[in-house]
Amino acid sequence: MATIQLKQVEKRFGEAYAVKPLDLTISDGEFIVLLGPSGCGKTTTLRMISGLETVTAGQILLDDKNVTWLHPSARDIAFVFQFYALYPHMSVRDNIAFPLKAQGETKELIDERLKLVVDLLRIGHLLNKRPGGLSGGDKQRVALARALVRRPAAFLMDEPLGALDADLRESMRAEIRELQLRLKATTVYVTHDQIEAMAMGDRIVVMSAAVVQQADTPTQVYYNPANLFVAKFIGSPGMNLVQGNYAEGIVRLPGDNQYPLPPGWQNSITRGENVILGFRPESAHVSPEGMLQGQVYATHMHGSYTMLHLNMEGDNVVHVRADRSQRYPIGANIRFDVDAQMARFFNPQNETALRQHQEQSRMTNDGLAVSNSQSSVSHSQSYE
Ligand code: ATP
Repeated sequence: MATIQLKQVEKRFGEAYAVKPLDLTISDGEFIVLLGPSGCGKTTTLRMISGLETVTAGQILLDDKNVTWLHPSARDIAFVFQFYALYPHMSVRDNIAFPLKAQGETKELIDERLKLVVDLLRIGHLLNKRPGGLSGGDKQRVALARALVRRPAAFLMDEPLGALDADLRESMRAEIRELQLRLKATTVYVTHDQIEAMAMGDRIVVMSAAVVQQADTPTQVYYNPANLFVAKFIGSPGMNLVQGNYAEGIVRLPGDNQYPLPPGWQNSITRGENVILGFRPESAHVSPEGMLQGQVYATHMHGSYTMLHLNMEGDNVVHVRADRSQRYPIGANIRFDVDAQMARFFNPQNETALRQHQEQSRMTNDGLAVSNSQSSVSHSQSYE
């Protein structure tokens, strides 16, 4: 498989940027997910890598070879789309064999490769059928088989599961990821579904308005979002974000709430400065002695837990995950704590995450910042 490098790659349509200058290195065998809302530039980025779209500026390297101006067919990259693009008049066998026939490969080689991918995807029983008679999942398996049979240097996938229903999407996610790991296939995968991105990616490239907001592991984008956009976009619901003001070791929040600044942040925030406190719903815990409080505005039952919507004053509604066996009447005042290690802070002016300056810390796998004066890695460095 291959490495893919994008160096200051950009795309403009007329004056409008579809992708602003972008630098990204995708390692050999890595599964990268491009994630973002509609129109943020994901598909254009993928199409530039494939050669289906020209770049306005910058370079694309495949295994250190400059392929920026090569025709798509000369790039040794396979593309899998949402809408399968199978030939309806051909059998499954002929659909899968098509790229090899087009390259003029021998019958022996075609039969050998066909058998391997058909076994891999367990679709031997479909070979004589036409695509029209297949389920959505089987059509996507055939499309994957047709991409695999070429043994390309890399795979590009544009919302390949977008047309499938929820259950099938979930099992196909696992299938594609398992296949990718087995083949060690360098893969760039586009989706606007953050659950899919979190489940599948080695790294997630979060894009918004033609700009990469953060390129990092799922753990990092979830626990250490680089800015307010990523904090809100990742997670369902996103991170709670409450504007406050810092003084004397305390962040004053709406509704007379006060949150003591956790250790490690003192040198990151200036006295009198406005600051945004961020925390995930599961980092808050309902407790009668909790230092924060809000009024129950809504409760949503999620099976194993109840999601409380608490109004801290004005428009500041926060989500707190709570015990499903308790009752939380609408309008009741609920006290809660926020785990000091999981609190994050953002600059309201430039919307970026603040970094801890006082003491070194290291990240555990689940994103907890653990104080460690010996470590040279601070968790805030993780998104540098
Ligand atoms: P979606 O999830 O809806 O496919 P996306 O993140 O993949 O969105 P792109 O399709 O890459 O976004 O589009 C990025 C921007 O470029 C959008 O504003 C889109 O309207 C614009 N754009 C894309 N292709 C063209 C084109 N051929 N001509 C003009 N503008 C285009």
